[in-house]
Amino acid sequence: AQPDWLIQLRDVRVAYPGGIEALQRTQLNVAPGEFLVLLGASGAGKSTLLRCLNGLVDATDGTVNVHGLQGGALNPANLRAHRQRCGMVFQQHHLIGRETVLANVLMGCLGRYHALRTLLPWSRSDKLLALEVLDRVGLLEKALVRADTLSGGQQQRVGIARALIQRPTILLADEPVASLDPATAENVMNLLHHICTHDRLTAIVSLHQVALARRYADRIVGLRNGRVVFDGPPAALSHELQIELYGAVSA
Ligand code: ATP
Repeated sequence: AQPDWLIQLRDVRVAYPGGIEALQRTQLNVAPGEFLVLLGASGAGKSTLLRCLNGLVDATDGTVNVHGLQGGALNPANLRAHRQRCGMVFQQHHLIGRETVLANVLMGCLGRYHALRTLLPWSRSDKLLALEVLDRVGLLEKALVRADTLSGGQQQRVGIARALIQRPTILLADEPVASLDPATAENVMNLLHHICTHDRLTAIVSLHQVALARRYADRIVGLRNGRVVFDGPPAALSHELQIELYGAVSA
């Protein structure tokens, strides 16, 4: 029987202005609740793939189907609803340093409202939800401190909380632990994996660290020059491919 895919990419090509083909004939199926890790050297196309999934980048050719929404048919109204269901976590978490941790988490609600919403007081229910997600990432007691007083690992936890406040069904994380030391990277990955498993979120996480990919991924997708060169369980990843997908960037 045909599995009930949540995400389906068929022959997706993304050509950026200037002629770079960031993705070439990419095929990808993701089932609900999977924790998928994208591996690949710098420039392999990982960020482009994630951006295709939340509608930040349009496929030049092929189809992107998420939640049954055809990428090509995304219009401003359903794109907004679609983005709301996709929580994003970035390497550079883009926190506003001079604002409180709580205010940063509340920014995750903006997709639901107009950006001018920040000029008005947040509702009690939004604030309670922000505190709830901060508690889940272990930072409740930091709610009222300035975001720039936190460590790198704590800031990324705030980034995760800001994604969770959207109550997403899909979590897209673009090298969420790339700028963290190994022990902190492990902690943040552990948290991300725990939350996704507990909430049955479908996660697509790009990483440079093969060891972390092997530990947490249900399935690994390896990219090289915009092409999928591996798609399978961590145990099936060969030593040679591990070294290649490790890329030029050290763990
Ligand atoms: P990294 O690990 O460095 O983040 P990546 O695997 O995420 O790399 P992408 O960022 O998707 O790779 O980039 C794939 C290719 O597309 C690269 O050659 C990159 O230079 C190019 N590229 C990415 N974004 C753009 C853009 N907006 N305009 C033109 N070229 C781009």
